[in-house]
Amino acid sequence: MLEKGITYIHEHIYIDLSKIKNSDDTLLDDKETMISELREIKEKGVRNIVEVTNIGMGRNMEYMEDVRKQTGLNFIYSTGFYIEPFFPETVFQKTDKELAQIMINEIKNGIDGTGIKPEVIGEIGSSQNIITETEKKLFQAAGIAQNETGKVLSTHTSIGSMGLEQIKILKEYSVNFEKVIIGHTDLSNDLDYMLRLLDYGVYTAFDTIGKNSYLLDEKRAEAIKELIKRGYGDKIVLSMDITRKSHFKKNGGLGYSHLLDTFVPMMEKAGISKADINKMLITNPENIFS
Ligand SMILES: [Zn+2]
Repeated sequence: MLEKGITYIHEHIYIDLSKIKNSDDTLLDDKETMISELREIKEKGVRNIVEVTNIGMGRNMEYMEDVRKQTGLNFIYSTGFYIEPFFPETVFQKTDKELAQIMINEIKNGIDGTGIKPEVIGEIGSSQNIITETEKKLFQAAGIAQNETGKVLSTHTSIGSMGLEQIKILKEYSVNFEKVIIGHTDLSNDLDYMLRLLDYGVYTAFDTIGKNSYLLDEKRAEAIKELIKRGYGDKIVLSMDITRKSHFKKNGGLGYSHLLDTFVPMMEKAGISKADINKMLITNPENIFS
């Protein structure tokens, strides 16, 4: 359940991609800085963080629960697996039904013996410009689990690609698209593509705000404005997907407050109304999780 207030829809409170990426920066384990930067956005109205770290990404419940308690924010946790390079051996060995069962079991009984139940199947991912056979199996498993539990399904696209193919797989499992968020679609920088995704009734996530090396925020604001103009203001959700220590303000990055301090004014300057901004930050997430 979400609390009344702003929701960041795609974040990682603790994540360890460092072994595969061979970079210590991708081990997000500076708890003190995390807490202080989260407290800052809480002051600005943030209440919910959808935490999409799953099995194979270093999901660490004890750590995250400590951060949750110290910040007073509401964290929504996830079950599932990420993309092929980060799959544990078991993903290659098990069938789609068996993998679905792992997710369903966590949803029903809690994560790692904590009794804390994930509200999200995610982030379920595909590689850039391809869904590998094993990733496809995972999407089938996620489809089965969504269908059985009704939970929110949040995906990862690599540089925004393969969203339509993800949808195609999920459609075969009669997934409720009102519960589906296609992640990182901003990075596609392709309005026609986004419109085709939205045709299915899914949510599109502009969840890499501040990652200007991939795409300038100005382009994100323009695309959002255009989507709203075409009637999709109630299908857009926002986040920053902070995954690196260098993303923290303390280390020279933009920090979590960038979305509210810089990107919101940028959207207003682009002509997006306060009401639409509140929809994307507050109401749309509420509707997804209602
Ligand atoms: Zn992702």
